[in-house]
Amino acid sequence: MSYARVLCVGLVGVTGQLVEVEVDLAAGLPGVVISGLPDTALHEARDRVRAAVVNSGQRWPNRRITLNLLPATLPKFGSAFDLAIAVALLGGSGELPLLPLDGVAVLGELGLDGTVRPVRGVLPMVAAAAKAGVQRVIVPAGNTAEAAVVPGLLVRGVDTLHRLVAFVRDGTPLIEPPVDAPPPSAPGPDLAEVAGQGLGRRALEVAAAGGHHLALIGPPGAGKTMLAERLPSILPELDDEAALEVTAVHSIAGLLPAGGQLIRRPPFQAPHHTATVPSIVGGGSGLARPGAISLAHRGVLLMDEAPEFSKAALEALRQPLEHGRVLLARSRGSAEYPARAQLVIAANPCPCANPAGDDRCECPPLARRRYLGRLSGPLLDRIDLQVRLPPMRAAELMETTSHESSAVVARRVAAARAAAAERWAPLGRRLNAQIPGPDLRRAPWRLPGRVTVELRSRLDSGSLSARGFDRVVRLAWTIADMDGRARPDAGDVGEAIALRTGERI
Ligand SMILES: [Zn+2]
Repeated sequence: MSYARVLCVGLVGVTGQLVEVEVDLAAGLPGVVISGLPDTALHEARDRVRAAVVNSGQRWPNRRITLNLLPATLPKFGSAFDLAIAVALLGGSGELPLLPLDGVAVLGELGLDGTVRPVRGVLPMVAAAAKAGVQRVIVPAGNTAEAAVVPGLLVRGVDTLHRLVAFVRDGTPLIEPPVDAPPPSAPGPDLAEVAGQGLGRRALEVAAAGGHHLALIGPPGAGKTMLAERLPSILPELDDEAALEVTAVHSIAGLLPAGGQLIRRPPFQAPHHTATVPSIVGGGSGLARPGAISLAHRGVLLMDEAPEFSKAALEALRQPLEHGRVLLARSRGSAEYPARAQLVIAANPCPCANPAGDDRCECPPLARRRYLGRLSGPLLDRIDLQVRLPPMRAAELMETTSHESSAVVARRVAAARAAAAERWAPLGRRLNAQIPGPDLRRAPWRLPGRVTVELRSRLDSGSLSARGFDRVVRLAWTIADMDGRARPDAGDVGEAIALRTGERI
């Protein structure tokens, strides 16, 4: 027998696809030919696999070896094919009877000494295998917990090529996934720890209830970052589908905790203002690494000190925010990662960043306008809520009355979201922030004239754009949902105007 076939999984973006690794050995000049759109890492795989096979005490076939990865049209990235290539080779050369691996997907990177190393993206790969009808998978020992998250699959781990060979030959047992429940993750920061800042807390709750992007503008020490970090704590838990999406992205980034469980809380990402474009939107050679915006998918992306980010970094957010996904150009094809994050930008009102706020600012008016102006094109236009936080007064800081905890606020947020989801069900949408302007402006959702008097006069005077009009209406719906009203009244619209324009209420 000089032909063998082993199943593996390829990954493009978050989408996995079964790959057949075929090996054919023929007489002729010894050497290895790889076909089927391999990337550079796959060519390196040839050398890794050879060293691993030899160092595991196996014989390297001294023949002409043809390796083929099918389907040929699928771009293949990364090092997860090593292990499948090695066993296919040993099968093809007659060293190993491959019957025990029939219908089994085999994933793993090989070290030169024959150890099997963990790979990125095991969760979406294994999920794709299961979807394609595969019932058993063999993964690196370090990835078994993660793979076991996918229901209905038999998962086994290997730490060395030698162990896999022993399993195939003699049925030596493989490594089972850990059965211990992983330790509960520490609770994130809680709203109960935030002193004062009534306006900021209100804005945060409105943002959570309606899914609105949020801008917090205020002097240093006003609590912008503290508030933003607590937004995930008042958002609902992720449902099964969202949890799988989020966990898959973190798996591809190699950032899953060792316990290997589904991520159930909305993630939080806060890239530093010196962050590069690839670290924000994703990139890198081989299997592209998701950027902060994808790691924040279904959660919160905080751009702290937003005007300090490079122009390129701010611009790069525009397309993902618009489409809810990131498209990364690759040498072959492109990779797509989800990027439906709720954006919070935090900014000082001016470059001097005087903690006393506007009253003590000595910046020339032009410098003040330019500073926030850096945000206007790419970001501010897409942000429903733009709040000016006052400086934290000593009195607020010393306040000892108890503050509402995140759990209490989260219950109100959930109730408001449920009301919105029921109303927008005919449109197939759930959150107020997602409703297109034309739908807001037509029956039965059009707000009556008496409710929008102030809004229309601002539109006529040009102090509010048409897009700004729609954003205020979206916020007004959220405020009505939070207060249990079936429709927004003039008071809701008034508060929405203040939250949109940054005016003090
Ligand atoms: Zn200033």
